[in-house]
Amino acid sequence: MEVFLAIAIFAYGLCFGSFLNVCIYRLPRGKSVVAPRSACPHCGDMIPLYHNLPVVSWLVLRGKCRACQQRISPRYLVIEVLTGLLFLGCYLHFGFTLAALKCVVLGYLLLGLIFTDAETKLLPDAMTLPGIVLGIAFSLLVPVNDLASHIMPGVVSTAMRTGVSWRLWSLADSLLGAAVGASFLYGAAAIYLRARGVEGMGFGDVKLMAMIGAFVGTKLTVLTIFAASLAGSLFGLSTVLAVWMKRTRRFANRGEAARCSSGISSSDARRRAWHSARLALRYYEMPFGVFLGGMAILSFLFGNQILHWYWGAL
Ligand SMILES: [Zn+2]
Repeated sequence: MEVFLAIAIFAYGLCFGSFLNVCIYRLPRGKSVVAPRSACPHCGDMIPLYHNLPVVSWLVLRGKCRACQQRISPRYLVIEVLTGLLFLGCYLHFGFTLAALKCVVLGYLLLGLIFTDAETKLLPDAMTLPGIVLGIAFSLLVPVNDLASHIMPGVVSTAMRTGVSWRLWSLADSLLGAAVGASFLYGAAAIYLRARGVEGMGFGDVKLMAMIGAFVGTKLTVLTIFAASLAGSLFGLSTVLAVWMKRTRRFANRGEAARCSSGISSSDARRRAWHSARLALRYYEMPFGVFLGGMAILSFLFGNQILHWYWGAL
């Protein structure tokens, strides 16, 4: 019975994953997610209902369109399986509780936003704005965090005993988290625009961070921003380094071949490689939402342990 229920929940998650795929494809393109029925993105062939089964259809068709034989992105399969695992994981960890529901909703929204940002560099309002409202609403049902009780141990622990008060603290933590997340990202975007003259972080990141803040509360919002900035910087740095090394090698090889005739010196090659790397740094658009979303998941799951360990180590 227990196993049967787990399988049913996983299958339920797969179906939700299937719908999430539709959202990821259609929302950034301004299309309706309800109608018309799913069609092949290449040839527009309507997908019949019996080929609309999550995972199974993709495997049966071996990732190709039935009509035009064009490849269908493995992202469809990945999203379905991840959503199935999200549903199953939340059920196994929390059982049938409101906490499980909150975890599922946050994970579902973040999965959608991470993959949409990675594919289109857009974070649709249709996901982030309802997400902010849901995050705030959930704070009244599931306590957001233990921030308040850490700041004022005596005051809050007594207040926590009455049913109404923890909801107010939780709501305050959620609202503050949303405000801190949004204003931090807004500030960063303004500085970025001033410093580089190009809009690096869109307003989508601001709304995404407000949503994350509303779900995880103030403390974990700060942790998420810190971790995402670190991960994003490391990623950006390694991208620049990779471009620089590749170009250095290429210019060096070209210099080797041309040395007999005209000859490009190795310092010249290095200079041109450095120029390419700087161009990459300037024009490469990093989907920062991917890092924010990924780190929000990690913070939500392990943030409190990480912070406890960190304070303990100090
Ligand atoms: Zn097709």
